[in-house]
Amino acid sequence: MKNPAWLGDPFAIKNNKIFLTKKVAKRLLAEAQEAFPYEYSALLAGHGATITAYVPMPNSPDKHVFAWDGATFLQALQHIRKNNIQWLGVLHTHPHTPPIPSARDIAGWHYPTLSYWIVGLASAQPAWRVYQWVQDGNSGSFEARDYTLIEAACDDEETTGSSPPKNS
Ligand SMILES: [Zn+2]
Repeated sequence: MKNPAWLGDPFAIKNNKIFLTKKVAKRLLAEAQEAFPYEYSALLAGHGATITAYVPMPNSPDKHVFAWDGATFLQALQHIRKNNIQWLGVLHTHPHTPPIPSARDIAGWHYPTLSYWIVGLASAQPAWRVYQWVQDGNSGSFEARDYTLIEAACDDEETTGSSPPKNS
């Protein structure tokens, strides 16, 4: 079955190499540090294998990234679709632990086509990791992937959940 246009497949091309603009990385980190000591999470979006935008997600009461309520999640996806970009992954922070997927992370994520980012904030320097879910029969696991920071090609793809709706 073919994915809908808004659902990306960043690992399908370019040898599993994924790209993130420096601007988005910087903003994500700033928002993540602002949320500290609480967990921060966001949907990541862009084109192909390049993340150029993000939609911040509200902290859920139990502080777990995949307990986003359905309406908020659908709204974020709709925002991505309206901006003609693709959903390419998710990011969340581990404020007090290394950027290694927890048992709950593993139980809650089975999207092999999307990228799964964790930023560890417990170390002196923030530690960024990106993983891909690899399904193997009935089980699966996260495998670490490489990523490359790039300069933004242009500014007009940027979007956040708090930006006002565009009038045409
Ligand atoms: Zn986690």
